[in-house]
Amino acid sequence: MSDIDILVSEVGPRDGLQSIRTIMPTAAKIAWIDAEAAAGVREIEVASFVPPKLLPQMADAAEIVAHAKTIPNLAVIALVPNFKGAENAIRAGADKLGLPLSCSETHSQANLKMTHNQVIDEVRKIRALIDTLPAAERPGFEGSLSTAFGCTLEGKVPEGQVVRLAARLVEAGVDELSLSDTTGYANPNQLRRLIKLVRAEVGADKLAGVHLHNTRGLGLANVVAALEEGITTVDSSLGGIGGCPFAPGASGNIVTEDLVFMLDSMGLKTGIDLEQLLTVRNTVLAALPDEEMYGFTPDAGLPKGYAGGGWGLGA
Ligand code: ZN
Repeated sequence: MSDIDILVSEVGPRDGLQSIRTIMPTAAKIAWIDAEAAAGVREIEVASFVPPKLLPQMADAAEIVAHAKTIPNLAVIALVPNFKGAENAIRAGADKLGLPLSCSETHSQANLKMTHNQVIDEVRKIRALIDTLPAAERPGFEGSLSTAFGCTLEGKVPEGQVVRLAARLVEAGVDELSLSDTTGYANPNQLRRLIKLVRAEVGADKLAGVHLHNTRGLGLANVVAALEEGITTVDSSLGGIGGCPFAPGASGNIVTEDLVFMLDSMGLKTGIDLEQLLTVRNTVLAALPDEEMYGFTPDAGLPKGYAGGGWGLGA
């Protein structure tokens, strides 16, 4: 990714769809993934390997991964909640496995039905499984520290707890970590502090990404704080799809179109063609006509004479 400054990691087809009721047909998911990759998106979290009876939206996960793998230059991420999910994701050919660990133990038990110790045990088993593969076939393995900035059940999550869990995940075998504001509680100062604290514990190279929500309107402010700390991977969802399960009517994930507009107009290279990206929501809306889609840039359009690449900077 040397030709880009910031990797925009699209999570809509997994994180976004997981929190909506309408089941998106497989062909429509494929059309969405194809259209985003064609606009220059380099990494997409395409599916979650959970039992279909728990989450019918993801019943076609293996098929979606297999299709996404045919797209050149696209990193295909699959969410795996446990060892079984990892086995299936590896079989399907995912480039990278993402495993969420809720920093709040109450949230972990409510969501994954596992204690912290149980999640760490799954991480060890997944690491061992990955290491049985030939080096060239091993997927990347990322641990996502969710509810790192606060929890809807426990409220405040102590920073020391996040740092301790970061160290445990690395010790158990993840390749890298991301910090996730699952609940939309984070503020920019909190981002700066926690990024510094986690990096001091596990090493700067182990923390490359953030997953931020815009539930209280601070999503892009938090992105800027993360960029200033040297974060280079930022998750987002096209049209902010999925909303926020904790606050009906409020947006959840930050909106890919707004994120790319901000980065592009700041002169940071993403490899994404913004105008083309803005057309992708039509593909999604055609399949999900009743879903709310968010975003200021799609509503307002691009500024007059917009040329991208740091347009508006300097003389
Ligand atoms: Zn999210």
